[in-house]
Amino acid sequence: MGAGEHPSDRTVTAYVAIGANLGAASAAVLQAMVALDGLPLTRVTRRSSLYQTRALSNEDGVEREAAGPDYINAVVELETGLTAPALLDQLQQLEQSAGRERPYRNAPRTLDLDLLLYGRASIHSARLIVPHPRMTQRAFVLLPLAEIAPALVPQTQRDAVADQTIQRLD
Ligand code: ADP
Ligand code: MG
Repeated sequence: MGAGEHPSDRTVTAYVAIGANLGAASAAVLQAMVALDGLPLTRVTRRSSLYQTRALSNEDGVEREAAGPDYINAVVELETGLTAPALLDQLQQLEQSAGRERPYRNAPRTLDLDLLLYGRASIHSARLIVPHPRMTQRAFVLLPLAEIAPALVPQTQRDAVADQTIQRLD
């Protein structure tokens, strides 16, 4: 068994947010779902619809709507035998192979993969915070998550992002 792998009878339900806004964004999100299903010890068990939102800029540390192509977002549920750090490694490798560059946080990118939830784990390491610290502020995370796991998103959280413009695509 490789580093970061659990015995095969112990899997965890995890949720990953997928975002893209450069190039063929919808295709990149759908391709990422296929790639996630192909990770070691990992299966995609649910996938949300695709959602379209305005890009956010955080160039100066303040999050606001930015000029630039819209984002396409989705959330998938995984059953995985990978540990949380091993899963993050895999997500970052997929981002890299999608050609992502990171001049600053929230810069336009071809693919962004965030680990939202890993079972009931609460993780605070230098490179990984779970639950994802900004997930409850973002309609483009909460709405797709609520679509596939409604029990995980209380109505109070949905109400808190109700002012954000977001469109579900068919
Ligand atoms: P954001 O996703 O907030 O727009 P980035 O994707 O550029 O910004 O941030 C990536 C960094 O966030 C990585 O260096 C990674 O170590 C860290 N990070 C912390 N917690 C998480 C998480 N739950 N999922 C993904 N990356 C995380
Ligand atoms: Mg990210």
